[in-house]
Amino acid sequence: MKDPRDHLADWLRDAHAMEKAAIDILDRQESRIENYPELRAKVREHRDVTRRQAERLEECIQRLGGDTSALKDLAGRFMGNMSAFMNVAASDEVVKNGIADYAFEHFEIASYRSLIAAAEEIGEDYVASVCREILSEEEEMAGWLEQNLPIVTQRFLERELADEEAKR
Ligand code: MG
Ligand code: FE
Repeated sequence: MKDPRDHLADWLRDAHAMEKAAIDILDRQESRIENYPELRAKVREHRDVTRRQAERLEECIQRLGGDTSALKDLAGRFMGNMSAFMNVAASDEVVKNGIADYAFEHFEIASYRSLIAAAEEIGEDYVASVCREILSEEEEMAGWLEQNLPIVTQRFLERELADEEAKR
């Protein structure tokens, strides 16, 4: 039988890999968006938030006595499964990425809900509180995208119609 704390440490490592992949995805998007300044600013802001999330997760893993040396590796593996979240070749990449980002935030929300439950079950109050903080950051980003994805989509169509660069 595996120790519940080892499961929690594994899941925190998975979350850390997810955040590292998110930093790369957001970085890439931020550097490509040209005609959607609010979206670009929000993506940049959330990238910075995500960097701090990765740091806090690393701290949680260390507190549980977990090994953080393999963390880099895992990020690469997560990334490999995330290629669907990269839409640089699409002629409507800003819309595709907006949809992907919205889905990604909900993947994160699900991950932190599960982590919070696990940490509470084991009595790891510190880990639970860090994950609750991160959850609220993901919900904030998901909420922003919920509000703004329709706006971005309409602006994309308007720019296309006006023969302006719309793709990004
Ligand atoms: Mg995150
Ligand atoms: Fe996020």
